[in-house]
Amino acid sequence: MSTATSTDTRSPAPHAADSHDLIRVHGARVNNLKDVSIEIPKRRLTVFTGVSGSGKSSLVFGTIAAESQRMINETYSTFVQGFMPTLARPEVDVLEGLTTAIIVDQQRMGADPRSTVGTATDANALLRILFSRLGQPHVGPPSAFAFNVASVRASGAITVERGADRTKAVKQTFNRTGGMCTRCEGRGTVTDIDLTQLYDDSKSIAEGAFTIPGWKSDSFWTVRVYAESGFVDPNKPIREYTEKEMRDFLHKEPVKVKVEGVNLTYEGLIPKVRKSFLAKDPEAMQPHIREFVERAVTFTTCPECDGTRLSEAARSSRIDGVSIADACAMQISDLAAWVRGLDEPSVAPLLTSLGDTLDSFVEIGLGYLSLDRPSGTLSGGEAQRTKMIRHLGSSLTDVTYVFDEPTIGLHPHDIQRMNGLLLRLRDKGNTVLVVEHKPETIAIADHVVDLGPLAGSEGGTVCFEGTVGRLRGSGTLTGHHLDDRARLKPQVRKPTGAVEIRGAAANNLRDVDVDVPLGVLCVVTGVAGSGKSSLIHGSIPASAGVVAIDQGAIRGSRRSNPATYTGLLDPIRKAFAKENGVKPALFSANSAGACPACNGAGVVYTDLAMMAGVASPCEECDGKRFQAEVLEYHLGGPENGKDISEVLAMSVTEAHAFFGGDGAKVPAAARILQRMEDVGLGYLKVGQPLTTLSGGERQRLKLATRMAEKGGVYVLDEPTTGLHLADVEQLLGLLDRLVDSGKSVIVIEHHQAVMAHADWIIDLGPGAGHDGGRIVFEGTPADLVADRSTLTGEHLAAYVGA
Ligand code: ADP
Ligand code: ADP
Ligand code: ZN
Ligand code: ZN
Repeated sequence: MSTATSTDTRSPAPHAADSHDLIRVHGARVNNLKDVSIEIPKRRLTVFTGVSGSGKSSLVFGTIAAESQRMINETYSTFVQGFMPTLARPEVDVLEGLTTAIIVDQQRMGADPRSTVGTATDANALLRILFSRLGQPHVGPPSAFAFNVASVRASGAITVERGADRTKAVKQTFNRTGGMCTRCEGRGTVTDIDLTQLYDDSKSIAEGAFTIPGWKSDSFWTVRVYAESGFVDPNKPIREYTEKEMRDFLHKEPVKVKVEGVNLTYEGLIPKVRKSFLAKDPEAMQPHIREFVERAVTFTTCPECDGTRLSEAARSSRIDGVSIADACAMQISDLAAWVRGLDEPSVAPLLTSLGDTLDSFVEIGLGYLSLDRPSGTLSGGEAQRTKMIRHLGSSLTDVTYVFDEPTIGLHPHDIQRMNGLLLRLRDKGNTVLVVEHKPETIAIADHVVDLGPLAGSEGGTVCFEGTVGRLRGSGTLTGHHLDDRARLKPQVRKPTGAVEIRGAAANNLRDVDVDVPLGVLCVVTGVAGSGKSSLIHGSIPASAGVVAIDQGAIRGSRRSNPATYTGLLDPIRKAFAKENGVKPALFSANSAGACPACNGAGVVYTDLAMMAGVASPCEECDGKRFQAEVLEYHLGGPENGKDISEVLAMSVTEAHAFFGGDGAKVPAAARILQRMEDVGLGYLKVGQPLTTLSGGERQRLKLATRMAEKGGVYVLDEPTTGLHLADVEQLLGLLDRLVDSGKSVIVIEHHQAVMAHADWIIDLGPGAGHDGGRIVFEGTPADLVADRSTLTGEHLAAYVGA
């Protein structure tokens, strides 16, 4: 492995001499960056490469984008700034030539139930104008087609200030026509309450029929009101109530009743439960209450609008027989064709911009979505590409766009289109910065910045800057691996059995029958939207020892970190306690030993309603999270030993060496650390907050934690996300070890090295959405390549050089 450093002085090409055409970074020291100084050509496409943990994000997001955002915030008036987070200036000496940075990342879109693909882009706004102009019958302005705008009819007096001392009341009528379905308030779903979760109808109230947490018959006033109201017979099983009793029991409007001389309010059970439980924020509930609510509340399609979220009037207006609800439910590629087919010269420019917006979805590989798809159901890669749509149509130029692995979730076939879009953004006069590992995208860079040589404290320097051609000969790890080609295995494993999927029909799947082989490495592939996740997550039973390991968020507090999550901290705490003769709890930042000022978080958070909170290091403990007394205790002897905060600041690799015997011998800890290294997380700090991990890192951490389980079948979703070419080999080795130890591994992947390494491939397609949903190939990689009958087959054949 070479760690040579070289700098290509002849690149960047055209404008390098002109200081206005460069972004200059001098002395960047964010996270692991070691005084990094670089120049990035403006209005060019620069790709940042390097192993995971080398410092790419610290440079691109943590330094360049962060400073740009901070400077934008400073341009607001002091009044507005009062409401904004005071961002800390990144640790960097000089940053010159910055332009406004727009970050297009994989953060899932918010959980706002009224946000859809259409509202998150400009598509719905344009469609609303179209329907307000052409729809028959004519129902009003564009807002009349907006499901997130309620109709308001109100009149009243408003007070208008006129001059210093005179005010005048003016009679005013407000009339706003919105398109919101009043029944579901634009959500498309209504909540139902599952009565069987509220009471056991074979019992009477006196016998304790209620099964709602805390509703005990004798002690709880609410229950006594039901029992003694006189509306129902407290000694009769609920299933024997008369019709009138049942109506009063479930639905009665609030009325005053006297119970043992006390005036109380009686209200039907359903409105009562809605008010007491459903109106509250589930996140703020105690876990057992939240579980009850999750059990008791069911969501069903709104019967009024049939899930379209729209008012009757909005749905009645049509263009060529198509309502706006129909249009939003169409697969976007079909909608684009419909719009192109409308021949209406009066709105020609509108049709052109709508058509262009919809075409961008298709180009970006999202033509299979529909505009009414809730944003919250998009995967990280889909969310990133959806955000990109806004910018493709934007007329802004000289903006710095920052992308985080835009190829995630994309089949090699889709990557070519994504590349085209990145180049288009550049050609409009923007600076495009991309963090990426896939050679297909590195190949189109005007300029490459390679960070490394390794991760964490062994990274943080720029190993190479220059063109892709020169990267190959640069001797860096990325250069070495750029042309790596996995070979097909001469021999594949024989399956030991199969999960039989029959008649799978979730989402776009067309009655799919397939046997997923067990005891082997099985790769499920196909273009984005072909139905891979629908098949695997929807059909492989959650029982039968299946361990699904995804990239989703990990629930936990802000004090959670890899050490707490993996269980590593337990043996470490015990070792500290034993050596120092004190209690283990002292060494937990969640309990006894925590710094009282920050409660063990190490940082103090300022939460802001409208923006992400800001964290600043705790001044009391200096970010160390523990009380000063706790830091007196050392592990590994008073001389060379480490205190608990020093342990938490170690990388996994450092900690492995330390607990493996260099500092202290704690075999249980060493075993867990070994597994974390195996999944390529050696660079991670054991105490780094989980909230700072990327989706790929979270998935690998979950894998490390669950590898030791007995479970038989592992399901992984793009485990190569965030992995450098050099680390993919290590991942393949790990997957092999899992299979060889008797486990079955099912992987949804697009990375061709993983496909080539599979024992069995299931290829979905042929296209996306309604053009997909079928199995187009099942068999060995060698047969897939020999057949070349599918898109995947063609790409894989080219990749392995067959
Ligand atoms: P890359 O983007 O190349 O994967 P990063 O910039 O994310 O690398 O990480 C570089 C180093 O900084 C790693 O050692 C990582 O563990 C560390 N690091 C990243 N984010 C944080 C953070 N929020 N707090 C502490 N350390 C961090
Ligand atoms: P892949 O995993 O191959 O990218 P998916 O299984 O995610 O494909 O998607 C297959 C089809 O099912 C697409 O048309 C997609 O829009 C649709 N789909 C997936 N998830 C949902 C969902 N939660 N709601 C509605 N449609 C969905
Ligand atoms: Zn509705
Ligand atoms: Zn503190």
